[in-house]
Amino acid sequence: MSVLITGGAGFLGSALANRLVAQGSHVRVLDDLSAGERERLDPRVAFCSGDTRDIPKLWSLLRGVDCVYHLAARVSVPESVLYPVEYNDVNVGGTVSLLTAMRDAQVKRLVFASSGAIYGEQERQPIAEDAPLRPLTPYAVSKVASEQYVRAIGNLWGIETVILRIFNAYGPGQPLPPSHASVIPRFLKQATSGGSLVVFGDGTQTRDFVYIDDVVDALVAAGQAEGISRSIINIGSGREVSIGELVETIERVLGESVHRLCASGEKAGVTRLVADVDLARRTLGYTPRVSLEEGLQRTIARDGRFSPR
Ligand code: NAD
Repeated sequence: MSVLITGGAGFLGSALANRLVAQGSHVRVLDDLSAGERERLDPRVAFCSGDTRDIPKLWSLLRGVDCVYHLAARVSVPESVLYPVEYNDVNVGGTVSLLTAMRDAQVKRLVFASSGAIYGEQERQPIAEDAPLRPLTPYAVSKVASEQYVRAIGNLWGIETVILRIFNAYGPGQPLPPSHASVIPRFLKQATSGGSLVVFGDGTQTRDFVYIDDVVDALVAAGQAEGISRSIINIGSGREVSIGELVETIERVLGESVHRLCASGEKAGVTRLVADVDLARRTLGYTPRVSLEEGLQRTIARDGRFSPR
């Protein structure tokens, strides 16, 4: 199988590229390196630096490709509030450009990385795929709009499409920008460098943390399974964990207690978010295998930024 991964030098994309190349696929990566790092990639992966909105570049990269994994995006929810125009340009514009080029190159299948963030605040948990969409931020809106383009254009031009709504992925190599970092790498950095863990709100808000290897299993299956075109599938652990429980799990894994600082609840986000992963089980044979404790242990062991003092 020959695949192109946009955003393939990023956290999830590089893990997917390395897995697929190890399984014998021909893998090309397109990434503008705005957040990605080429060094993460197995040398057998063919890397091309560039933007997903560059249609002529896509034409040449798509030659002979069976499946595209579209992961390139701006990915920070708080940053999207500051830069909505850029999030729309890159995330929505990039998706439409890619679909156009795929039509021209007659590529069979697209797997699109959407997000659990598009559900927003929901009364019913765990959240199934038919829940009403309530995007609360420009990032989430950009994923909703991209999903709609993927479905509509896929239908019009006969491209097989699979949309994965990924919840809170974590693992070694997750970006840790100075501001707006995701909660797990931020907590691990604060805990292992002897600092305080800053908890927004009272810590009762819940999330669905899914380990990177489980997400990669789902992505691989979404590129290969038969009879799933037009599917929209949640990918999470199916386990609801409060931020307070996350802190306790980190303490257990590190074998020491950590100091917490409570900050204002404005940045706490939605109250609850946990995925119903039943459809993923049935359509992709997906089973989340890595518990939060095990995933945190692996992340600390494999990511040098979290070496305990
Ligand atoms: P990441 O930032 O590590 O990866 C995104 C990659 O896209 C980066 O390597 C970046 O350099 C590249 N990129 C950005 N703009 C580009 C452009 N215009 N052209 C080419 N490349 C560009 O983030 P990630 O966590 O690996 O996320 C991958 C995808 O999965 C994203 O679409 C994200 O929205 C989605 N997703 C991630 C999570 C998560 O928890 N990590 C959850 C839900 C959805």
